Amino acid sequence: MTDRPTPSPGSWPPDWRAREAMILAPWAMHAADSRGRVHDEQPHAFRSPYQRDRDRILHSAAFRRLAHKTQVFTGYHGDYHRSRLTHTLEVTSIARTLARALALNEDLVEALAMAHDIGHPPLGHAGEDVLDELLADQGGFNHNAQALRIMELLESRYPGFPGLNLSREVLDGQATRRKDGSGAPPILETQVVDAADSIAYDTHDADDAVELGLVPLEELLELPLVAAAAERVHQRHGRIVGVDLRRAVLLELVDFQVAGLVARARGSIEALAIRSPDDVRRAFREGAGPDAGRILAPAPDIAAGKRELERFLFTRVYRCERVLAVRLPAQQRLRQLFDWYCARPEELPRGFRGRAELFGARRSTADYLAGMTDRYLELDHRRRLGTG
Ligand code: MG
Repeated sequence: MTDRPTPSPGSWPPDWRAREAMILAPWAMHAADSRGRVHDEQPHAFRSPYQRDRDRILHSAAFRRLAHKTQVFTGYHGDYHRSRLTHTLEVTSIARTLARALALNEDLVEALAMAHDIGHPPLGHAGEDVLDELLADQGGFNHNAQALRIMELLESRYPGFPGLNLSREVLDGQATRRKDGSGAPPILETQVVDAADSIAYDTHDADDAVELGLVPLEELLELPLVAAAAERVHQRHGRIVGVDLRRAVLLELVDFQVAGLVARARGSIEALAIRSPDDVRRAFREGAGPDAGRILAPAPDIAAGKRELERFLFTRVYRCERVLAVRLPAQQRLRQLFDWYCARPEELPRGFRGRAELFGARRSTADYLAGMTDRYLELDHRRRLGTG
């Protein structure tokens, strides 16, 4: 056994600054260099700023509600498939693996990953489409922008400020997800979460779709990305079939993509002489390197395979009859409930009523409905409109 220093309470472990200086790469975002929070706060005795951000997200109501929000499939379809919460945890896990392999700030990565989908309304993208259409005359509705609204305004848990008062790096990271391109260039911690999100949903949506019988495994295995993964599985485990093959192939798809991203990112960091988060931003702005400025980017053949898998999932799964049969009536209930509250803003909970005076009844109603879980939407619809 190797000799280890004897810890003395008080001096061990080192404080978070020293710990980050020891274990993080120069291209990682060190919390000591954070641009801080909108509302100044006393530093915590032993939690780093990004660790506090992560904890604040975990303890938020918006995070808890992800447990009963749709990823792709609702409770009507069974109980095997992912919810928005388990998707988020899979993203967090993959992102943390990538972060550790690249010596990035895992606390910041966890905060960003756990927060990345908190702006999703009930019914997933189907709910988002409805709210976007209903708010078309006032800027629309987008789940990424809504996540920022939750972080900065809607969560009220602390007496000193509205929202969660997260570090600016968490807000900036979330802002880069907005489709209008208005965000700052993403640092590596943000790029890691984007890459992990894409790996997670491609593979778990395929897994869920086969389990639910929407797509036969054989058809999935015809896609080049999946076929190559199956080939590697067969080389390692012999001729396994059925559920065993499916599970092994999906694990292989995740593992293979993660390993590829790490190798390519290490190469790009070296080739582009990345030495700091500022270098990462500069490379992104200039579109440097083979991936137009992204350090976390799959190889071109993998990217093409993913696009093909995503097209397949879109037509065969996201738009299939069994999914639409549940989605369309649920969207209708969301629309009806929106109209009901807009006509009776006095029925909104107190905080939303107050904000209706600031932002208008339509925006505040959307804020309230977007916070609901799938189940609560059903319940409230039954209560308010008297039908299932
Ligand atoms: Mg996601």
